[in-house]
Amino acid sequence: MLQLEQLTLNIPDTTKPRVVIIGGGFGAVNLTKNLPDEQFQVVMLSKQNYHGFWPLLYQVATAGLEPESIAEPIRKLFDDHKDFHFRFTRVNSINPAAKTVSTVIGDVPYDYLVIATGTKSNYFGNEQIKQNAFGLKHLSDAINLRSQLLQSFEQANLTKNPEARRSLLNIVIAGAGPTGVELAGSLAEMRQHVLPRDYPGMDFREMNIYLVDGLDRVLPPMSPESSRHTHGYLEKLGVIIKLNKFVESYDGQTVKFKDGEEIRSQTLVWAAGVAGATIEGLPAETVERGRYLVNTFNQVQGFTDVFAIGDVAVMKSEKWPKGHPQVAQPAIQQGVHLAKNLVRKLRGDEWKPFSYFDKGSLAIVGRARAVADLPGKKSLSGFIAWVAWLFVHIYYLVGFRNKLIVMANWVYRFFTYQRGTRIIIQPYVNSEDKAAQEYVRLQTVD
Ligand SMILES: Cc1cc2nc3c(=O)[nH]c(=O)nc-3n(C[C@H](O)[C@H](O)[C@H](O)COP(=O)(O)OP(=O)(O)OC[C@H]3O[C@@H](n4cnc5c(N)ncnc54)[C@H](O)[C@@H]3O)c2cc1C
Repeated sequence: MLQLEQLTLNIPDTTKPRVVIIGGGFGAVNLTKNLPDEQFQVVMLSKQNYHGFWPLLYQVATAGLEPESIAEPIRKLFDDHKDFHFRFTRVNSINPAAKTVSTVIGDVPYDYLVIATGTKSNYFGNEQIKQNAFGLKHLSDAINLRSQLLQSFEQANLTKNPEARRSLLNIVIAGAGPTGVELAGSLAEMRQHVLPRDYPGMDFREMNIYLVDGLDRVLPPMSPESSRHTHGYLEKLGVIIKLNKFVESYDGQTVKFKDGEEIRSQTLVWAAGVAGATIEGLPAETVERGRYLVNTFNQVQGFTDVFAIGDVAVMKSEKWPKGHPQVAQPAIQQGVHLAKNLVRKLRGDEWKPFSYFDKGSLAIVGRARAVADLPGKKSLSGFIAWVAWLFVHIYYLVGFRNKLIVMANWVYRFFTYQRGTRIIIQPYVNSEDKAAQEYVRLQTVD
């Protein structure tokens, strides 16, 4: 490996306007796709070298999909763009006076800056939970969680101590939004169809899946009708739902709630909140509740050449007084719209304000169990919503190869009830038990 001081960003000079984009997610990718190569130089700086399809992340964590099948390398996505320059680096700060952004490797000047950094997990300032809980925001999180779950099952199969076994088999998911719901449903189906075959000597009635939320219903962003259906589906699958419940602390062994209840568990999954991934450098008044305040052209308040799109931006309007929901569609649509406005600007045409086309929302609980809120306040549930969920996710998944692999996995799973990727990759041991650690170490030494 080279030392940092031996590295340089190596971005070619240009006479075209340079658009620097921070991030490689839904917003950034759709913006880049729509910026004509001959008119702009595009520099994309991202701390991941891939574009991740996060709606399917929970399936990686529950051994249903290979990690690579829900991600596409950024360089491959734009290998036909001649003036596109990807740099695999984190942006640490923005200097709007000098019109540069700073990375550990160096500074990059911009004509237009687009911040498309999405969100990060929000632990509401609780460092202990942050240290001990499992997040689900990146591919590495999903692989880590998968390893943790599989190792817990392996260890539970090896212990004769019922207390220890229950603590290994208790899974607590904090946050009953789409991620928490989908994860809980998937784990419950795994418990029903996969684990008893893998561990014939174990009684999986001892495995509890808890879904907890501080609010009074599951899927709070969706309609009450969809919440009600989802609640029913989850209960049928045996998920224990605890509402109006706040996690207070977690030391890696015991989840403690504000009302005094405690659950012994080696696995707490944190899906309870996100905050915008803002970057140092812009004035404090540009940020509201962790998101950049933008106007209808996605310009960050007070700037004409700095834009924010997607989850990290909050564009308030009469219809969306708190901004758009932090889901993929606003990011995709804002990316496409901003590209068109930048082209308009070059032509000397008027900019057009962004208007969000709400295509509705979907969530899946399990086989033939899903819910959909359609535009016009209509809701669907059950098999039809499930089929719609499958089609929409395949449609938006990036890359033909990924679509094929994911579809093949789903068909295989539908007919066999199997999950193909029950592989422990990382020797992760969330246990202070030395013998358990030694057991895992022995499985991983050369
Ligand atoms: C587990 C999970 C499940 C979800 N399920 C759904 C769903 O079912 N339906 C739905 O519509 N939405 C879903 N979402 C939300 C959806 O993924 C987001 O709304 C969408 O990704 C937002 O796009 P974005 O471009 O704003 O950010 P992202 O797609 O998150 O991209 C952010 C990018 O910025 C990069 N980055 C961040 N900080 C820096 C930095 N300082 N320097 C360099 N690069 C940086 C990241 O590496 C990443 O490439 C889900 C999200 C998660 C995490």
